[in-house]
Amino acid sequence: MSDRETKTDVILIGAGVMSATLGTLMKELVPEWEITVFEKLAKEGEESSNEWNNAGTGHAALCELNYTVEKSDGSIDINKAIKINEQFQVSMQFWSYLVNSRLIRNPQDFIMPLPHMSFVKGERNVTFLKKRFKALSNNPLFQGMEFSDEPEQLMEWIPLIMQDRASNEPIAATKIDSGTDINFGALTRMLFDHLESKNAVINHKHNVKDIKRTSDGLWELKVQNLDSGTVERHTAKFVFIGGGGGSLHLLQKSGIPEGKHIGGFPVSGIFMVCNNPDIIAQHHAKVYGKAKVGAPPMSIPHLDTRYIDNKKSLLFGPFAGFSPKFLKNGSIFDLVTSVNPNNVLTMLAAGVKEMSLTKYLIKQVMLSKEERMEELREFIPNAKREDWDFVVAGQRVQVIKDTEAGGKGTLQFGTEVITSADGSIAALLGASPGASTAVHVMLEVIKKCFPQYIEEWEPKIKEIIPSYGISLMKNPELLHEIHTSTAQTLGLIEKEPVFS
Ligand SMILES: Cc1cc2nc3c(=O)[nH]c(=O)nc-3n(C[C@H](O)[C@H](O)[C@H](O)COP(=O)(O)OP(=O)(O)OC[C@H]3O[C@@H](n4cnc5c(N)ncnc54)[C@H](O)[C@@H]3O)c2cc1C
Repeated sequence: MSDRETKTDVILIGAGVMSATLGTLMKELVPEWEITVFEKLAKEGEESSNEWNNAGTGHAALCELNYTVEKSDGSIDINKAIKINEQFQVSMQFWSYLVNSRLIRNPQDFIMPLPHMSFVKGERNVTFLKKRFKALSNNPLFQGMEFSDEPEQLMEWIPLIMQDRASNEPIAATKIDSGTDINFGALTRMLFDHLESKNAVINHKHNVKDIKRTSDGLWELKVQNLDSGTVERHTAKFVFIGGGGGSLHLLQKSGIPEGKHIGGFPVSGIFMVCNNPDIIAQHHAKVYGKAKVGAPPMSIPHLDTRYIDNKKSLLFGPFAGFSPKFLKNGSIFDLVTSVNPNNVLTMLAAGVKEMSLTKYLIKQVMLSKEERMEELREFIPNAKREDWDFVVAGQRVQVIKDTEAGGKGTLQFGTEVITSADGSIAALLGASPGASTAVHVMLEVIKKCFPQYIEEWEPKIKEIIPSYGISLMKNPELLHEIHTSTAQTLGLIEKEPVFS
């Protein structure tokens, strides 16, 4: 039975940070376009974007060692780190624009300054970190990074990690104070509040079941109203599938050829959360370690100060694991039902290739609390069982596709924007670097889907993001200006006094 039918310009599926960002950008570019959102849960930002479901790192490659790979000649490739840092600067400019324009308030409710550190043990890793530091610290994007392998200095930076450290193994760390902790859940909710104030219609407890193209080139969604149980039909000129882990199934339902031969591999996560205020008070940084051999990049351990629910917390993890669900609130049949005649060969090829990863993830799920404590003790040597609890994090669905470099069924660790040839539908798949680069990724969606408007919209985009289309690394003066102004607007540094 269908009791409601609507027609609109734009439909956003899913109320996570990606839909929130795209909707907010579009409201600035074309305020007159009507936007409707469908979210199957009762609130916005309850899946991966929720503050307890992700690590809240403002990924700018300041501390994540997997973004700087050691090449076979021993040199460090910093290209990925540069790319991610530049993308993060785009997010910082967008958020600053929203605060300056009073479209959102109280930035401290979603972003806080926090030193980002990398921490390694063993001679080989110390040599790697030193080389990484040399390669990055000359680059304007990473200015202010410090390196130390002196125990006294490290004790000052990370007392909790250095206390009771018995081994004589060489250790080293880098530290950069311009890092951030971001509450992406709070940001998502703020952006949806703003969208609602601009007349966007947000439908909670509405599960999108199907997407079909109509004969007049529009998209019709079959949506189940979870309160009434009725099925509704909603039509739009443009649809964004921002369903997080739910996006792959919806993309497949749209039937666009660009969505074929793509699969998904779910990776679950668990954080340890400290419940002892004395321990929490002793740490003030995000400290990223190095992934163990065979471990996927999303399981790099880190010990993070977090600001959640208006208080300081301390989290360790995430421990990656395997679960067949594509969303935390998903179904155990998600993985099986994502395999269809179009992607079965790709999935089978990936199954063979990634057997060791699957085994690794299953082993991780089976770890006992004591085994997890042992991993934590690599960071906090005297960590006590009773001070730590567990919290289940969000699901990340990694994209599997056929690539020239990797062949059939290659697992991807980045994000993928899939669009139809006519730009009337777009889907976001994958999860890394994730929410931190949402603005860059959503601008890509806009560029790919609305090429006919880009020239007209460009002045506004440049007003929102002054560095749009410009490499900040190659323009250190602009970088300094943007760095200072965004940090001031977002409350990350004190505003300089104005003297008359
Ligand atoms: C463990 C973990 C750690 C992470 N750490 C970081 C980090 O430190 N920094 C960072 O930048 N990123 C991080 N990420 C990635 C980041 O969380 C995600 O990239 C981001 O939140 C994705 O946002 P989204 O809007 O695409 O998806 P989501 O936030 O998952 O939102 C999707 C929404 O769509 C809804 N939905 C799905 N299907 C349907 C349907 N059929 N009908 C209606 N609604 C539907 C869901 O209920 C959900 O609300 C992490 C992720 C995980 C899991």
